Amino acid sequence: MDIRLFLKNAEGENHAKKQKKYNDHPYDIANFLDKDNISLEERHILLKKIYIPPLNFQYPQTLCANRKLKFQNSYFTRWLWLAHSIRNSGAYCKICVLFGPRYAGINLVKLNTLVKTPFNKYKDAGEIFDNHQKTNYHKSCELMISSKESIQKGDMIPISAIIDKNRIKIAKENRGKIKLTIEAILYCGLQGLALRGHRDSGSLNFNNNDNEGNFRGLLKFKALGDPVLMESLISTNKNATYLSPRNQNEIIDICNNIILEKLIVEINSAPCFSILADETTDIAGIEQMSLCARYVDTHKNIIKEMFLQFIPVSSMTGSALADIIFVNLKKLKLNINMIRGQGYDGARAMIQFNGLQAFIKKKCPAIYFHCAAHSLNLAISDSCSLPLISNCLGKISSIYEMFRYPKRQNILNRIISETPGPTRRKNCKKLVQQDGVFDIKQ
Ligand SMILES: [Zn+2]
Repeated sequence: MDIRLFLKNAEGENHAKKQKKYNDHPYDIANFLDKDNISLEERHILLKKIYIPPLNFQYPQTLCANRKLKFQNSYFTRWLWLAHSIRNSGAYCKICVLFGPRYAGINLVKLNTLVKTPFNKYKDAGEIFDNHQKTNYHKSCELMISSKESIQKGDMIPISAIIDKNRIKIAKENRGKIKLTIEAILYCGLQGLALRGHRDSGSLNFNNNDNEGNFRGLLKFKALGDPVLMESLISTNKNATYLSPRNQNEIIDICNNIILEKLIVEINSAPCFSILADETTDIAGIEQMSLCARYVDTHKNIIKEMFLQFIPVSSMTGSALADIIFVNLKKLKLNINMIRGQGYDGARAMIQFNGLQAFIKKKCPAIYFHCAAHSLNLAISDSCSLPLISNCLGKISSIYEMFRYPKRQNILNRIISETPGPTRRKNCKKLVQQDGVFDIKQ
């Protein structure tokens, strides 16, 4: 064999072996097309490992406009994102392959050249590469990678951490606002003040002096010395101000549940308890039953009478009222077997043989007591038929009426305060009996 031919064949075999080795490279960019199961973290690692052929690599030639052209090593230094796949014989954008979307543009066109398919028509390579790196999806990938690198270097805070930080800040602000709302509601509740007026919707306005009800008035008063709080209560572009009637009602309901829970524990720890009930019609025309419990506070050894709930009622028969009471006591988790007493006014539905008290007695040994205040009222009404009692009560009423006028009341107060203790009652009596001690017409 001709030695030259032998050498040429040997060189060709070596080249083929080398090319085969390159073809099988595990980090050839073509190995990572459409690999959806690679995590983001792994993609960042892969980006640094994507294979770049050596400088002496013989790139395959392609025919473009009657010219044989091939990939140039200089492309790598000008377009840093380029990769060349030996397996697919063409160029790819490695960052778009690893981080890019499958579709882009307004019409969501599928990405192909440089992303899904190899680029190997090198005639206008420079222009095509420049255009590619101007696309939004390519820029997004670059931004993602640079952000990751900045975060790793400590130059940038991750977006998740920023969002989390903001979320914590907003949560803290909102908690401050709702705490203020709760405090205002508790204050109004303790003082027995109605929360709402009739001009109390929307955000708070610190520039007017309108009466917006006790709740909003209290908030305004508290926020006057706190500019941050004032700003947060005024601002209408923030989601939570916790001023709405719905929020107020929710907080009142929660307070009700907390108070009830404590009361129920206290009542259930007593050996027994009595129930007190009365009905009245509310402003909306709904019949409401007020249910109270009377029991011994075993810790303080005192008798307590506590209001439990208002219960709307539709039927006023004894059995219906008894059912409502039992259902609600059960709902409150009160042990109905421990009821030993019941107190109502003298209404027929309550006291008759088929009234409420009789139905309660069927289930528990609860002795019925007529309400003492109602009894006193009835006794006075009946006894007014006697002239002596009627005149006495008339006299008391006249005396009370006479001292309602401020001038007379002031004189009365002055004389009472100037009179020494033991003789005070005597002097008061003298004052009332003797005309001329003071000018009663003043
Ligand atoms: Zn790209």
